[in-house]
Amino acid sequence: MAKKIIITIDGWSSCGKSTVAKQLAKELGYTYIDSGAMYRAITLYFLRNHIDWTDDMEVKNALNEIHLHFESNLKSGESEIFLNDENVEYLIRDLIIADKVSDIAATASVRTFAVAQQQKMGSNKAIVMDGRDIGTTVFPDAELKIFMTADIATRVERRYKEMFEKNPNVVLEDVQHNLEMRDYIDSHREVSPLKKAEDAIVLDNTNLDMEQQLKIAINLVKQPLV
Ligand code: C5P
Repeated sequence: MAKKIIITIDGWSSCGKSTVAKQLAKELGYTYIDSGAMYRAITLYFLRNHIDWTDDMEVKNALNEIHLHFESNLKSGESEIFLNDENVEYLIRDLIIADKVSDIAATASVRTFAVAQQQKMGSNKAIVMDGRDIGTTVFPDAELKIFMTADIATRVERRYKEMFEKNPNVVLEDVQHNLEMRDYIDSHREVSPLKKAEDAIVLDNTNLDMEQQLKIAINLVKQPLV
């Protein structure tokens, strides 16, 4: 039986991390974890409950009330996130959440809370997790680390198309502004900023289609296993 490993996929917003992560998980029979969904669900809770995320005590008390878990959707087979037993997978994709998530994800207590749960999920290996600090902080000893990137115009176009399908009123400039803002906050925060782990392999998918990128990712998986 093949050795089970941990695969981390980090990178800029909307560069296709989750697509590759899902493809790899399916191909290998591994669990896929969308760590960004956890920060988005926490953000939804904070906004709904008017939590002041600049007040650490308030943040810690709020986190005590938050239970997150993932469940596989029986129809689509996709993993979906639940906030206190409510399926919030659809709600957390809204621009209102995207607008605040990077500020909330930058707070130390929120990161400690999320990272501890992510590390637990990887305790049996056989996992593909995507995010911003997975290869640097969550699983620094992961067997395979991929750092994904794509040029900004391509990323904006992809995210805009995805959001337009759910909400035809979405404005392209707003999507671009949000991606640029999140990338800036994510890569400049004090705790676990987004950066390439020294031993991560860069995958630029600006000019790759889904099939090509899967082929490259699969080849990367084979390398550390031989
Ligand atoms: O991956 P996604 O774009 O859904 O992530 C939403 C936000 O969550 C990111 O912009 C970032 O602020 C935060 N995040 C993080 N660390 C992770 C995953 C996401 O700070 N591991």
